Amino acid sequence: MKKLLIHTCCAPCFIYIENDLKENGVLYEDGTREKVSYTACWYNPNIHPLVEYNRRKNTFEDFCKRHECDYVILDHYDLNEYVRYVVENVGKDKKYLVRCEYCYYMRLKEVFEYAKKNQYDMVSTTLTISPYQKHEIIKKVGKMLEEEYQIPFLYLDYREHFREGQKMAREDGLYMQKYCGCVFSIDEGKWKYE
Ligand code: SF4
Repeated sequence: MKKLLIHTCCAPCFIYIENDLKENGVLYEDGTREKVSYTACWYNPNIHPLVEYNRRKNTFEDFCKRHECDYVILDHYDLNEYVRYVVENVGKDKKYLVRCEYCYYMRLKEVFEYAKKNQYDMVSTTLTISPYQKHEIIKKVGKMLEEEYQIPFLYLDYREHFREGQKMAREDGLYMQKYCGCVFSIDEGKWKYE
């Protein structure tokens, strides 16, 4: 059975996808399905502040334990590196393209690195259940890393199930954050989830 490493931005974005993976397997871009074994991978040092990071991380871990889902936590929180990179573009980057691209790249690169060391067959991310994320950029970054690491990146467009996933998360009692993650997104209205 193939092994999928799925970057998990948070438990509320994972819950629908986890259920679908368990019940039906992965959904490839051509519409076919395959049962795989999967591991949820936490790596999100973009989240600010640290108490919020810990709250989301603990929610993720608790979720994986309760749902008996295999998981790994890459727990290095280096905010300095992230801020140093994006600060040059603050105020110039009106649509947050540079900032978000770096954020996706930084997170997914670490996940690919782990996948390479631990012989996973493919990598994906839960970010793409959210209609608020920049799907074309995530796809571009995923394909770049696919090339670099020679591990296929699986783009999972679950946007149509976002609301259902949020409902499942509320019913499961998960902590639901109100913004995307970084210090800048706290004040950006579009990230204020319902
Ligand atoms: S808005 Fe979200 S995706 Fe964009 S940089 Fe901030 S945390 Fe990352």
